[in-house]
Amino acid sequence: MSLKLESFLERKGFLEKFDNYLFDCDGVLWEGDHVFPGIIEAMQLLRNAGKKVFFVTNNSTKSREAFLQKFKKLGIEANLDEIFSSAVATAAYLKHILQFPADKKVYIIGMSGIQHELEAMDIRCCGGEADNGPFDNEIVKNDPEVGAVVVGLDTQVNYKKYNKAFTYLRNNTGCYFIMTNQDSTFPVHGTLQPGAGSIAAPLITALNRQPDAILGKPAQNMMDTIFAEYKLDRERTCMIGDRLDTDIDFGLKGGVETLCVLTGVTSEEEILSKENNIVPTYYIRGFADFVVEP
Ligand code: PLP
Ligand code: CA
Repeated sequence: MSLKLESFLERKGFLEKFDNYLFDCDGVLWEGDHVFPGIIEAMQLLRNAGKKVFFVTNNSTKSREAFLQKFKKLGIEANLDEIFSSAVATAAYLKHILQFPADKKVYIIGMSGIQHELEAMDIRCCGGEADNGPFDNEIVKNDPEVGAVVVGLDTQVNYKKYNKAFTYLRNNTGCYFIMTNQDSTFPVHGTLQPGAGSIAAPLITALNRQPDAILGKPAQNMMDTIFAEYKLDRERTCMIGDRLDTDIDFGLKGGVETLCVLTGVTSEEEILSKENNIVPTYYIRGFADFVVEP
C-alpha cells in the first residue's frame, strides 16, 4: 500500500529519511518548457539541506549540455555530472558493454541528443537529422559499415529512415537493434504524444524481431552508473517520478524507495487500483508540496 504524503510532518519525515534523490524530469519538475510552480523553491530546499540530487530522464532528444541549458533557463540549479539521459545510457552501453567497433557506425532514428552523446564517446554515426525530409521512392542500398541501429524519439521520423534502418538490420549480420527507451507516450501541453516505444514499433513489425537492448528507465543502466560513480547508500536514496512503468519500476528494480507525483501521467486512482502491481512507497500531489508550510 502506498502512503500519501499529506501532512507537514509526513513530508518532513520523508526529507529526513533520504540523503539522495533521483529525479525523473518531465512530469515532476516541468512539463515541456514550463517549470511547475514551486519547484524551483522545493529543489532549493533540498540543496540547502545538503541532499544529493540526480536527474534521470528517458528523453533522448537533447544532449546533456542542452539539458543543462534547459535547467538554467527554467531556474533550477543543476550540474552536468548530475544529469543522466537515455541517450547517454545508450552511448555508454554501445561503448562499454558492446565495445562497438571503431570500423562500424550507428544508424540513428532520433534527434540531435543521440548523435551528440554517441559522438562524445567517439562512436561514428549516420542518419538522424541528415535523413529528415520526404521519401522520393529511392531504393536503399545496404551499407555494410552499419553495425547498429539506434531508435529514439524522432519528431521528423519518415519512411526513408524506416527503410534504411530495416535494410541495415535485415542485411548486416550481427547488426544491433537498440532502443533508447520504451515510453509508449509522453505528456505535452496537458495531452499525450507517441513516445520512443511507438517510433520503434514499425521496425519491430517489419523485421518480426525484438530489439537487442532497451536502455532508459526501467532498465537499470542509469541506476548502475549512478551507484557505481557515487557510492550511494540505497537505503538513503529515493526515486521520484510520475510514471509507474518507467520511473517507479526503475526504483523498485534498483532496490530504492519511490515517490510518485500526480503532476504527470499517473492518477491517484491508478496508484491505488487493485490491478496495479507497480506500487510506489509514497505518493504526493506534486513535488512543490514540499515547500508548503505547516
Ligand atoms: N522521451 C521524450 C522524447 C520526451 O520528450 C520525454 C519528455 O519530455 C520523455 C521521453 C520522458 O522524459 P522523462 O523520463 O523525463 O519523463
Ligand atoms: Ca516523467
